Amino acid sequence: MRAWAVVENGKPLQELELPTPEPKGTEVLVQVTHCGVCHSDLHMWEGYYALGGGKKMSLKDRGVTLPLAMGHEIVGRVAKLGPDATGVKVGDLRIVFPWLGCGTCEKCLAEEDNMCLTVRSLGVYANGGYGTHVIAPHPRHLVDPGTLDPAVAATYACSGITVYSAIRKVMPLPPTEAIVLVGAGGLGLTAIAVLKGMKHQHIVSVDVSAEKRAAALKAGAHKVVDASGADVTKRIVEAAGGPVLAVVDLVNGTQTARFAFDALRKGGKLIQVGLFGGELSLPLPLMAIRALTVQGSYVGNPKELRELVKLAQAGTLAALPVATIPQSQAYEALMRLRDGKVTGRLVLRAEAA
Ligand SMILES: [Zn+2]
Ligand SMILES: [Zn+2]
Repeated sequence: MRAWAVVENGKPLQELELPTPEPKGTEVLVQVTHCGVCHSDLHMWEGYYALGGGKKMSLKDRGVTLPLAMGHEIVGRVAKLGPDATGVKVGDLRIVFPWLGCGTCEKCLAEEDNMCLTVRSLGVYANGGYGTHVIAPHPRHLVDPGTLDPAVAATYACSGITVYSAIRKVMPLPPTEAIVLVGAGGLGLTAIAVLKGMKHQHIVSVDVSAEKRAAALKAGAHKVVDASGADVTKRIVEAAGGPVLAVVDLVNGTQTARFAFDALRKGGKLIQVGLFGGELSLPLPLMAIRALTVQGSYVGNPKELRELVKLAQAGTLAALPVATIPQSQAYEALMRLRDGKVTGRLVLRAEAA
């Protein structure tokens, strides 16, 4: 197989010839046709995450080894089955669930692989979609995109399930109950599309940028709130028609967490998704008296990916704008993303696809 791999952090990707893995047991070898270029690939390429306050989280310390073919938004065709793999056949087009765990613990067996303590994510701890082939440990990690555009379907494995999983944590709610989304960037717009797809009728989008608020309205948000200056909580409560039950914070910085938390009413939930960084101090008696929940949410699980794909197949999910670029130009794609020249999603397309 070939891979466009990180060999040294912060240096151009190198084209490498690697042995094509042989699927064992329940494993399935997938030949990559499409792979989204995600913002977190940039952090991986650089070798660290900024935690805020000048602190950095090194990916090397977290067990990421080089060379690595990044890429976790993968669609491809089944190329070879391990002796115990069933349910798919050679040539089938599938989305590959990338947020893998050990495969044997209680969480993994309950299909909550992303909650496993042993992280084996594709494109992070194992070669991903910046290579020509990936290994899915089990056919249950493969989801049929049906007639969906594979370039769009690829993005469901990351940005798609990230917002879907967060929204699921505040559901069920009556369709007219306000759901507040903090941040109207890529994730925020995807969240609006998912809520619209779920027929939700009261979406409040919060952002500092007038341009992004306009995009949120265009995407179907019912109300928008300016997140700059003072009194943001007050404006959220006004837009929502009262203190709220559900906030999904896709930014999750010190300021957004504060105004989001302060907007909650009894039984309210704040779901924290973004990695902006910072801190939140909680008034502990209120946590108890109002029975509040502050919960983190990170990517999602295979069940959620299947549900999201079903929602998309029903035709109610507005697709993110995607552009494709040959897989061999992975580094150029990454640099375009770094330089802020990408609207929507840039997706690598294999020559064979
Ligand atoms: Zn991603
Ligand atoms: Zn596990």
